[in-house]
Amino acid sequence: LAAREFKPFPTVVKSANVEIGGRKLVVMAGPCAVESEAQLFEAARIVKKAGATVLRGGAYKPRTSPFSFQGLEKTGLELLAKAKTEFGMPVISEVVDPRDVENISESVDILQIGARNMQNYALLTAVGRQKKPVLLKRGLSSTIDEWLTAADYLLAGGNDQVILCERGIRTYETSTRFSLDISAIPVIKRFSHLPVVVDPSHAAGHYALVPAMAKAAVAAGADGLLIEVHPNPKEALVDGLQSLTPSDFSRLMEELRAVAAAV
Ligand code: PEP
Ligand code: MN
Repeated sequence: LAAREFKPFPTVVKSANVEIGGRKLVVMAGPCAVESEAQLFEAARIVKKAGATVLRGGAYKPRTSPFSFQGLEKTGLELLAKAKTEFGMPVISEVVDPRDVENISESVDILQIGARNMQNYALLTAVGRQKKPVLLKRGLSSTIDEWLTAADYLLAGGNDQVILCERGIRTYETSTRFSLDISAIPVIKRFSHLPVVVDPSHAAGHYALVPAMAKAAVAAGADGLLIEVHPNPKEALVDGLQSLTPSDFSRLMEELRAVAAAV
């Protein structure tokens, strides 16, 4: 169902006044995790001012280690819902448990399925049964074909509002957290009708690498970007090293405008 043979025209995913896969580049930005109202609202103010149109923030954060901060959960969802009305921006947040799908889709505008859950079929089935747009991240070690087949679970459930997200894959390279697969963008464009966005933050693992990777993704034809921004990355509870500062993010947004105008 994700294949171009099945639907020759590009899918445009709509959330409030934002179109993903339309003519304009969509930037989704915000902190990795919602930490407090002050932190989320400050991040929202910054990213909105710089030109982002979707606010990101994790409420449920199962981490590699069970001893790391796991997110504010329900309180995080409430803060996201509050930020959405306060700033008039759709919000995206990750769902990790099929039992939370209903609850989360009441508070957020776009549901994110994390890389580690790309082949969690119970979760895909539950998310496919509801109507909110879904951003499906590519698994750490998944081929593009496996990724598109995972998207079929969402589409088969009746949800046609699916966005793909390349976030880097495992290779033998260790100087970045993951290897961003830029070639996934033209491959998806060739074989699928679904929009594709790129998350340079999780691929890079370091803020210094994020701008170049973001610009490369846009030049290669990505429909959007998902970028981690924190009001004060040094104090971030999660993923501070790969989060952009407010000024670095504003500068990147300026540069992206030039790249987007050229493609
Ligand atoms: C995230 O976006 O915060 C996240 C956990 O990403 P990934 O699933 O790509 O690791
Ligand atoms: Mn993160």
